[in-house]
Amino acid sequence: MHKSLIIDLDESLVDFVNPFLASVNEDFGTQVRREQIRRYKFRENPEFPVKTQEEERAAVEKFGNQGGYLHLAPFPNTKTVIERLRSSYFLDIVTHRPSTSQIVQDTHTSIQTHYHNLFRKIFFSKGSKAEYAHFNTLAVIDDSPLVATEFAQRQIDVILMNAPWNTLQEYPDLNHSRVHRTFSWLEVPSRLREINQKSLCP
Ligand SMILES: [Mg+2]
Repeated sequence: MHKSLIIDLDESLVDFVNPFLASVNEDFGTQVRREQIRRYKFRENPEFPVKTQEEERAAVEKFGNQGGYLHLAPFPNTKTVIERLRSSYFLDIVTHRPSTSQIVQDTHTSIQTHYHNLFRKIFFSKGSKAEYAHFNTLAVIDDSPLVATEFAQRQIDVILMNAPWNTLQEYPDLNHSRVHRTFSWLEVPSRLREINQKSLCP
């Protein structure tokens, strides 16, 4: 039986932060750039104009309810690599996007557009993504330092997509044998082979 992979959407498969920041900058008259986001939670970055969890949630929902998620561009090589992985693994998306009906619908539409029939299921998680891990989960692919730390502590391998908001300086717990920092999707298949071999003969 195939092992399965839990794959994140925003900033793993598709470019979310640039369009989201453009929308926030327009609303607040700011000029926050992607490189300035050093903390995973937007509100923890001094340059970001929103400071509370509720305001941050509202900004994300506003972006989504205006159709922002419908037009996010896939990162380079993701489709080719996902097609390759599909022959060896079950692929599930687990996202922390808000689950308003518009966002859910736009998410399904854009995944069908860019990754037609490649994913088994899309889950909208409100809490811990670790709840979606089961006995045959091989690894998770995510950019979140928080998700990565949680999975690593549960001894599940993580392919961490490198980003300005997941540095070791800010998140020292990422220095963990289960966290495999990756700079391009082209590296992902060989990383998974290494992880799979290690799991067969630990
Ligand atoms: Mg993400």
